[in-house]
Amino acid sequence: MFSIADLEQRLAALGANAAHRQRVMRHWVQALPLTQGRRQLEHYLPHALLAALPALMAELEGLATLVESHPGADGSARLLVRLGDGQTVESVLLPRDGLCVSSQVGCAVGCQFCMTGRDGLIRQVTSAEIVAQVALARRQRAVKKVVFMGMGEPSHNLEAVMEAIEVLGTVGNIGHKNLVFSTVGDPRVFERLARGPVKPALALSLHTTKDALRRELLPRAPRLTPADIVDAGERYARETGYPIQYQWTLLDGVNDGDDELDAIVTLLKGKYGVLNMIPYNSVPELPFQRPDWDKARDIARRLHQRGVLTKLRDSAGQDVDGGCGQLRARAAQPRKR
Ligand code: SF4
Repeated sequence: MFSIADLEQRLAALGANAAHRQRVMRHWVQALPLTQGRRQLEHYLPHALLAALPALMAELEGLATLVESHPGADGSARLLVRLGDGQTVESVLLPRDGLCVSSQVGCAVGCQFCMTGRDGLIRQVTSAEIVAQVALARRQRAVKKVVFMGMGEPSHNLEAVMEAIEVLGTVGNIGHKNLVFSTVGDPRVFERLARGPVKPALALSLHTTKDALRRELLPRAPRLTPADIVDAGERYARETGYPIQYQWTLLDGVNDGDDELDAIVTLLKGKYGVLNMIPYNSVPELPFQRPDWDKARDIARRLHQRGVLTKLRDSAGQDVDGGCGQLRARAAQPRKR
């Protein structure tokens, strides 16, 4: 298990200067074979580094290896990924060259509707393991957008996620606004993201406008009210020029009432953001239900008419154990199917 900083130190010990390190990292993150640009590498890199490169690249590939791939009807594919120590996380290949990555094994926030939250935090995913998920996905297909919406709460592994974002936004060749940091809302995030050399777009998980209900649904999220979260989000959006993506998992009979819709209009109308409504995927282990699609469409339409830019989305690959943490949970149990 090592981080990007550890990798850079190892490269430096092999005689690499900053430009050499960037060259090697680019090969890794962009999943280029060593045969590609071989002459240039031979001409450019110090001998000790060149000699060590095949073993080093194999070691980097070993940071994230594919266990299972489950293609969905929508063009997505859910990947169960093994990390170097045998722990597993999920990545999701999204339609239109996107990838959703995991930043933790398990998660400490404990959202009531999430399978990942049930295990608590098992361990952090290192910055190199985050980048390795992208390199692994790129060996399957192009990746032009990376969203940090897989297992884990990125703000609880903030420095590692920011280190990975910096690599992806530079040598990883991914546009900064196509890197999406997703969080339940943590005061440290708003300050830290604005300071980095690569400023990602921001997704904020709102799920309800009611403070008490939010505390129930997201029991260990930082104590920010929905209004605090939107205020901080609005400042970040104006500073970066990227709209905030407000996430709303639609739970039947829980957060889909008219009172919520009125409060959403008060909270979000005129804000620089978009509301993504994602109907929940029911799982037998958890007590929440997926709302009817027509009802969800009606809610999105009514919000849109009242001035809140609202998009109704289905979570990718929802036909293949689609909720976050479900593949991992299934892999840990004997299969019933
Ligand atoms: Fe953690 Fe996200 Fe699951 Fe909540 S929804 S428990 S923040 S992984």
